[in-house]
Amino acid sequence: MTIYDTNNIFAKILRGELPCHKVYEDEHTLAFLDIMPRSPGHTLVIPKQPARNILDIDPDSLAHVARTAKKIAIAGKKAFNADGITLQQFSEQAGGQVVFHLHVHIMPRVEGVALLPAASRKEDVKVLEDHATRLIAALKG
Ligand code: 5GP
Repeated sequence: MTIYDTNNIFAKILRGELPCHKVYEDEHTLAFLDIMPRSPGHTLVIPKQPARNILDIDPDSLAHVARTAKKIAIAGKKAFNADGITLQQFSEQAGGQVVFHLHVHIMPRVEGVALLPAASRKEDVKVLEDHATRLIAALKG
C-alpha cells in the first residue's frame, strides 16, 4: 500500500498553509474551487481525514465526502444554470490522479459544451472569487 504524503497540496490547504477559494466546510469535509477549472464552478470536495484515494479512504469518511458532493452538485446546477453535473474521482497515477489526497471533482455542465482539458489553464482570481460567491449563495438556498 502506498503511504499518504502529509505534504501534498490539499493537505496544506486543509492546514491553512496554502490558500483556496472555499465554498463549503463542515466537520468532515472541505469544498473549494479547482484553480484550473474544466467548467465554470468546478469544485473539489475532500475529506478532512487523511486519505490518498478510493483505495485507502475510511468508508465513513467517503460517505461524508459523498454527502458534501451532493450538496455542491445541487448548488452548482443552480449557481451556473447548468443542465447537468459531471463527477470524477481518480485514484493513483495510472487512474489519472495528480494530487494524492482523495478528492471528488464536481463540474457543472451545459448541454453541448465540452469540458476544457484537465489542467489546461489557471483561472483568473477575480473569476474564481465570483464563482465561489455564486456557489456559496446557492448553498444558502
Ligand atoms: P487529479 O488529481 O484528480 O487528477 O486532479 C487534481 C486537480 O487539482 C486538478 O484538477 C488541478 O487543476 C487541481 N489543482 C492542482 N493544484 C491545485 C491548487 O493548488 N489549488 C486548487 N484549488 N486546485 C489545484
